[in-house]
Amino acid sequence: MLCDINSCSGCAACFNACPKGAISMVEDAEGFSRPQIDESACVRCGLCDKSCPVLNPVALNPPSPKALACWSLDNPVRLDSTSGGAFSELALAVLREGGVVFASGCDENLYLRVRRVENESDLGSVRQSKYWQSDVGTSLREIKGALKEGRRVLFVGTPCQVAGARAYLGDLQNDPLLWTADLICGGAPSPGVFRKYLDYLRETLGRGIRSINMRDKTKSWEFPRTSVVLEDGSKRILREEKDWFKTGFYNRLFNRPCCDECPYANKTRVGDLTIGDYWGLGSLDPVSYPKKKGVSAVLCNTPRGEMAIEAIKERCFIEERKSDELVQRAMERPAKSNRRREAFFADLKKEPIRVVVKKYLRRNWKTRLRSAVASLLPASLCAKFLKKSR
Ligand SMILES: Cc1cc2nc3c(=O)[nH]c(=O)nc-3n(C[C@H](O)[C@H](O)[C@H](O)COP(=O)(O)OP(=O)(O)OC[C@H]3O[C@@H](n4cnc5c(N)ncnc54)[C@H](O)[C@@H]3O)c2cc1C
Repeated sequence: MLCDINSCSGCAACFNACPKGAISMVEDAEGFSRPQIDESACVRCGLCDKSCPVLNPVALNPPSPKALACWSLDNPVRLDSTSGGAFSELALAVLREGGVVFASGCDENLYLRVRRVENESDLGSVRQSKYWQSDVGTSLREIKGALKEGRRVLFVGTPCQVAGARAYLGDLQNDPLLWTADLICGGAPSPGVFRKYLDYLRETLGRGIRSINMRDKTKSWEFPRTSVVLEDGSKRILREEKDWFKTGFYNRLFNRPCCDECPYANKTRVGDLTIGDYWGLGSLDPVSYPKKKGVSAVLCNTPRGEMAIEAIKERCFIEERKSDELVQRAMERPAKSNRRREAFFADLKKEPIRVVVKKYLRRNWKTRLRSAVASLLPASLCAKFLKKSR
C-alpha cells in the first residue's frame, strides 16, 4: 500500500526502500513522478509503508528563535548562488572533511535530479534554485551507504524531500554524521511543464539551451531576472513574455497537488537547518550593509545544525537577527494552488503552448511596465524603485 495519491510528494522513499525493485517512479499526466507498484513482484514486506513520511510523519523541530543573515565571503560563489551562497559553504565544509553532498542539479539535457557530489569542482552543478521538482532517484540508498561507511553527509532538498530521506533512513536519521537542510519552499512546480517550457524556448530562441538561471542577480538580488546560456555559449536575459515559467511558479499554477496541504509550510522545520532568501532583512532592525549581492536566511533547528554553522563561520558573514523579521509566506501556511490550475492542465493537453501561455501566463500591464522600467535603471536605483512602486 502507498499513501493517498494527493498527499504523495514523490519523495521516492518507498521506491528506495523496496528490496524487490517492485516500485518504479512513473510520470503522471501532469508531469509529476509517482510511485507505482508491480503487484506481481511485490512480496508484501511493508517496507514501503514504513518508509513513507505521509503514513509515518517524522518529528518536526521546534521553531528557531533566531534567524541568521548569512553570505559567503567568496564573492563569485555568492554571486553565482540564488541567495547568499550558504548552501555552497555548507557543502564545501562537508567535502573538505571527506564527506559527500547530495543536492539537486541538472544534467546536460536540463533534467533535474538529486546528484552525488564528491569534489569541490563539481559543486557548481548543484548550485542555484531550479523552480521545478527534482527527481530523487536512488540517492537515498546512496546516503545510507555513505553514512554506513562513516562519511559525513549533507542532504539539501525541499522539506518533503528531507522528510522522505529521514523516514527512509529510520534510526540512521539520528546519525551525528548526517546534516539535512530544508529549503524554505513556496511549492514544487511540474517537471513536465518545465520540459514544455524548454521546447518553447528552443523554438522561439532558435537554439538549444545549455543552462537556465531563474534568479540571475546581475542587476540585483531583489530584482532577479531569468537568463539562459544558449548552445553557442552566448547568454540572454529573457524578456517578460518568454519568462512565463517563473510567472506560473509565482502564481502557483502548476504546483504538485500535495503542496496545497503541505505539512512543512510552517515554522516547525524538518531539517537540521533551513535555508532561504532573507526577505524582510532590515525591516525591524536596520542593516549596515548592502544586500544586492544576495543574503541567505539560515535557521539552526538542531544541535547538528549548530555544528554545521560552526563549520562555515570562518568563510561567511553571519549575523544573528530576530526571526520575526524574516518574511516568508512559505513558513506560515501552504501555498494554495491557483484556482485556474485544473483548467490550465486541461488546456495544456489539447491546445498549442502559445495559446495556453497567452490565456494563463501573461503578466498584467502594471507588472510588465514596472519590470520594464526597473530593467532600464542602474542596479543602485532598481531596488528603491521596486520598493516604492509596490
Ligand atoms: C522549488 C523551490 C521553491 C523555493 N521557494 C522559496 C521561498 O518561497 N522562499 C525562500 O526564501 N526560498 C525559497 N527557495 C529557496 C531559495 O530559492 C534558495 O534555494 C535558498 O535560499 C538557497 O540559496 P543559496 O544561495 O544558499 O544557495 P544556492 O546555490 O542557490 O542553493 C540552491 C540549493 O537548492 C537546491 N535545489 C535547487 N533546486 C532544487 C529543487 N528543485 N528541489 C530541491 N532542491 C533544489 C540545490 O541543490 C542547492 O542545494 C525555494 C527553492 C526551491 C528549489
